[in-house]
Amino acid sequence: MAFSTLAKNFQVCSRSHAIIFTRASRKASTNVGFIGLGNMGGFMAKNLMNKGHKLVVYDVSKAATEALAKAGATVAKNPADVAAQSGTVVTMLPNNDIVTNVYTGKDGVFEGLQSGSILLDSSTVDPSVPTALEKIANSKGSFFLDTPVSGGVIAAQSGELTFMVGGDKQIFEKAQGVLSGMGKKLVHCGGIGMGQAAKICNNMLLGISMAGVAEAMNLGIRLGLDGKQLMDIINNSTGRCWSSEIYNPVPGLMPNVPSARDYEGGFYSGLIAKDLGLAQGLATRTGSPIPMGALASQIYRLMCKAGLEVRDFSSVYKFIQDGQKI
Ligand code: NAD
Repeated sequence: MAFSTLAKNFQVCSRSHAIIFTRASRKASTNVGFIGLGNMGGFMAKNLMNKGHKLVVYDVSKAATEALAKAGATVAKNPADVAAQSGTVVTMLPNNDIVTNVYTGKDGVFEGLQSGSILLDSSTVDPSVPTALEKIANSKGSFFLDTPVSGGVIAAQSGELTFMVGGDKQIFEKAQGVLSGMGKKLVHCGGIGMGQAAKICNNMLLGISMAGVAEAMNLGIRLGLDGKQLMDIINNSTGRCWSSEIYNPVPGLMPNVPSARDYEGGFYSGLIAKDLGLAQGLATRTGSPIPMGALASQIYRLMCKAGLEVRDFSSVYKFIQDGQKI
């Protein structure tokens, strides 16, 4: 971690690498900036407002910012404008390139950054992205944590997300007031990038388990079993998992999940395909075999080609059932 440029505004304890907040952190705004108000970010931003935080928001989609403006948020012109008005900035964006560009590009977060700010990226991206962004944030007297989440849109809406956090532990402690406004479990996983490492392992398993539940449910229904009864049996047996119990992919079995609304909203197939691609890259880097992850990755990629890219990933049930788009 490059601490040299921080020395002007912060006292740094060289033995522990702990950062003691002094003048700069007291000056930073108490506003929370939020960039990326989609299926997840929209609910997360609203929960922060409900907890009493003053929000400054930005999204390339006007419809998304208008919804937050109606709830009382200030809409910024661009990511730099968000950073200029906020002491903490949360980003919830689709992928590596977009996250990198929102921070480092023209009118990006780093152009408007206040010294002493805390930047929290909750998107799911390769661990190399936060590693690079932390260096730039530190060189500007600010801080960066990777803070990916688990729990899906259901937990985003109820404010019960799990945050997997990588980066300096003291900054993690400092960020807990904001993170706990959106989640109920906050786990410090280690140094920068380690939150993403945990998240990508979880999502590889999620992609595999959702495809497995879809396969088993389809087989059972074709054998003549009643779908609801089969779901109940699985949820009281050894096949039980989040994909079967909380987010079942078979239409008509559960209310308030994407399978109940033609797989609209939720967690797009394109995003799980991205996450499984990230897992493949990390597996190659570490020489770790992931045969199930590799197969799941190909299934979701085929789904994207079949027109399901912006449908919830539980539409893998329809893909397995019909072999093509809904
Ligand atoms: P989404 O596509 O619904 O939302 C992304 C938002 O980012 C959109 O509103 C889009 O307009 C906005 N955006 C895109 N480019 C932008 C830019 N350059 N500047 C500002 N805004 C921009 O996606 P989501 O489901 O909310 O997921 C966001 C991230 O969270 C992804 O990395 C995803 O992998 C991760 N995630 C999603 C879920 C889920 O269940 N949906 C769960 C956990 C993690």
